[in-house]
Order: sequence, then C-alpha cells, then structure tokens
Amino acid sequence: FEFSDTNFPEEILKVFEENEYELPTPIQSVAWPVLQQGRDIVGIASTGSGKTLGFIIPMLLHVRKQPPLQPDDGPLAIVLAPTRELVQQIHQVSKSYFDLFNIKSSCIIGGDEREKQISEIGEGREVYICTPGRLLDFLENRITTLYRVTYIVLDEADKMFDLGFEPQVRQILNDFKSTNGDGQTRQMCMFSATWPKTIKGLAEDYLKDYVHVTI
Ligand code: AMP
Repeated sequence: FEFSDTNFPEEILKVFEENEYELPTPIQSVAWPVLQQGRDIVGIASTGSGKTLGFIIPMLLHVRKQPPLQPDDGPLAIVLAPTRELVQQIHQVSKSYFDLFNIKSSCIIGGDEREKQISEIGEGREVYICTPGRLLDFLENRITTLYRVTYIVLDEADKMFDLGFEPQVRQILNDFKSTNGDGQTRQMCMFSATWPKTIKGLAEDYLKDYVHVTI
C-alpha cells in the first residue's frame, strides 16, 4: 500500500512529501481505506505508529463533504483524548492539513482559557479536539451541541479510562446518541494501546460493526 493508492488530494500528498514520508505506516494502510469506506474501526496501536494521521486525514475528507457550518452549529467532528498535551499535539499535527482546506479546529481543554475557548467556538469551528471534562462542561451548559457531529475519534481510550474519564466519555457518547439517533450516517474510530474488557465494552456499546486491527 503506497500513498499513490490513496485517493487523497494532491495538496495532502505534497505535505507528506515535504515531510519526507516514504510509505504509509501499517496503521495508516489499514485505517485509511476502512475509514474512507465509512466504516468504524478499533486500532490497537501506540504513539509512534502514525495513528494521528490515520484518523485525521479521513476526518478532514469527511468534514469537507459536509454542508457548511451555520451560525450556532456545533462542530462536525470531534476528537477525545486523555490529556491537554495530547490534544495540543493532535491540534498541531492536524493544523497543517486543515489549513489547506480552510477547516478550523479548536482545543477544548481544562484550565483557565474557558472564556477564550467559548468565544473561539462562537466564531464556528468544524473540529473540536477535546479532553472529556471540558467538552462535557460545554455540553451541560449548552455552550455547544453535538447535533451536527458525524465523525468521532476516541484516542488513547485506555489512558482515558486509566485517568477515570470513562463516565465522561460515556456521557458524551450518550448525549451524541440522544441528539443524533442511531440511524444517520456517522462514523467512529477508537485507538488504544491495550485491549482490556472495559475498552472492548465501550467499543461494543457505541461502535457499529467495527473492523479491529492490532499493529
Ligand atoms: P503518531 O503515532 O501519530 O504520534 O505519529 C508519530 C510520528 O510519526 C509523527 O512524528 C509523525 O509525523 C510521523 N509519521 C506519521 N505518518 C508517517 C509516515 N507515513 N511515514 C513516516 N513518519 C510518519
């Protein structure tokens, strides 16, 4: 599987070239075709595997196909990750690709920038990259809504559970389900370094007929 086997836009392939990437990584080789077919996936893969671009590029292509944001819309896609540092890292990696297509993203993370985040998302952001606590705060206070979300990523799911975020993650996914129902086109992917019963349970409760891949 090579970059030329993807049907990614030239602009994206050019960034890969500039970064001197020679081949898609194993997780990318599996995740890209599966996600582009609209299917759900669980990837057991750790940092360094190239998983971030594994979910970010299909997310970008998915977001591009959606009708544009209207005032007061929430995001079109969300990423949940365990720590502020990881959120910022995902944001930084994805920004160079999102900028090519004028897709705007925000970091929704705990700490003292709550008001700044609120005013930022008020301008309209297609993608939120979040820690679970702050997103749940925004949902409970009706600062945002998941009604236009059709693509969800859970990154480092096992670490989110280790840090005690299982209830928040489930509340967010339940909120999403109750707002959007089960019927419409929506896609989910989950990445985890390990595959304990708790994580398997989460996948079975929220993902649809998913492909499971261990790298
Ligand atoms: P991640 O596992 O997503 O944290 O990515 C780890 C590192 O791999 C990052 O520095 C990426 O820039 C890099 N990377 C991602 N995809 C590729 C690729 N296809 N070839 C070489 N390096 C890559």
